Amino acid sequence: MIHFNEPPFTGKEMEYMRQAVENSHICGDGIFTKKCHAWLEERTHSPKALLTTSCTHALEMAALLLDIQPGDEVIMPSYTFASTADAFVMRGARIVFVDIRPDTMNLDENLIEDAISERTRAIVVMHYAGVACEMDTIMKIADKYKIPVVEDAAQAVMSSYKGVPLGSIGDYGCYSFHETKNYSMGEGGAILIRDAANRDRAEIIREKGTDRSKFWRGEVDKYTWVDFGSSYLPSDLNAAYLWAQLEQADEINDKRLKLWDIYYEELKELAGEGFLELPVVPEGCQHNAHMFYIKTDDIEQRSALIGFLKERGIGAVFHYIPLHTVAAGKKYGVFHGEDRYSTRESERLLRLPLHSHVSEEDAYTVCRGLKEFYRK
Ligand SMILES: *Cc1c(COP(=O)(O)O)cnc(C)c1O
Repeated sequence: MIHFNEPPFTGKEMEYMRQAVENSHICGDGIFTKKCHAWLEERTHSPKALLTTSCTHALEMAALLLDIQPGDEVIMPSYTFASTADAFVMRGARIVFVDIRPDTMNLDENLIEDAISERTRAIVVMHYAGVACEMDTIMKIADKYKIPVVEDAAQAVMSSYKGVPLGSIGDYGCYSFHETKNYSMGEGGAILIRDAANRDRAEIIREKGTDRSKFWRGEVDKYTWVDFGSSYLPSDLNAAYLWAQLEQADEINDKRLKLWDIYYEELKELAGEGFLELPVVPEGCQHNAHMFYIKTDDIEQRSALIGFLKERGIGAVFHYIPLHTVAAGKKYGVFHGEDRYSTRESERLLRLPLHSHVSEEDAYTVCRGLKEFYRK
């Protein structure tokens, strides 16, 4: 059986979690959290990175930091996970969905400007499959209209755009360490803060509205309730689990890229013969092999292929019913312009198994299954 997903585990996790217990510090911001913060800040060149209880919560923090108010508009793609929208809808925002590009499945940067109104308060981009959105164009538009940018970089840890780490380009970048992501702590995430001036407020929002972070650093002699906030900091036990993987981030990344390359090379022929389409990685985008997907002709062929692979013990799945087509999306958002690609392309996309327990042999087996399906 080649499962679609299995949680990452390097072997050091239990030892680090035991150390956290022996340190008598299992709540938030212990030594493993600090190690993770330092790693994230070093790797992304961000002045501040904070672990959170999820990427969803990192996005909620971004919405709070941006003071999103009822009636504000937030631009984002419709082809994304519910959390991208949820975080802003919870603040009363109206979501303005724009179409995606069919090549990368990322929001089409050329459609953003037309969707901007007087009420636009944020542009939220999502780097699908760890492949960057066209950030130069997006940041230029954001600068022109003075609109902040939030990167939903849930899938993009270790990815970059023209050499700049994803998550560090917009005002706020949000990572996920959910068990389905490249690096995991079970449930968890992080927020990257680009401008040092926003650091204190982010720390306060994350720590129940208190200045406890300043207290730990010895900057104040007692901590008090200073603003609104919530509890967005994860246990150091979870951070210990994550640390085992961040320590081996380069090895994990290399292994994933190797599998991705096997899929790509093995399926090139089928693509050349017009049976399926392969993912596109534009020039200047270094991806992290978060996922490997193919595109079938249509939804019927995709369903048949899922069944065919399942009979051979291979788990392949699709995801993201475009948000504007489902109940909450209709209630809280509106699609700006024409849905040329969001629905059509999402119905053709199929993800193949790619996680830390997939072997190279497994990847070849999956490719053999695909060849059999298309050439039978
Ligand atoms: C996984 C994912 C999320 C949610 O991450 P959590 O850590 O589970 O909250 C949000 N956005 C995208 C694009 C994702 O892939």
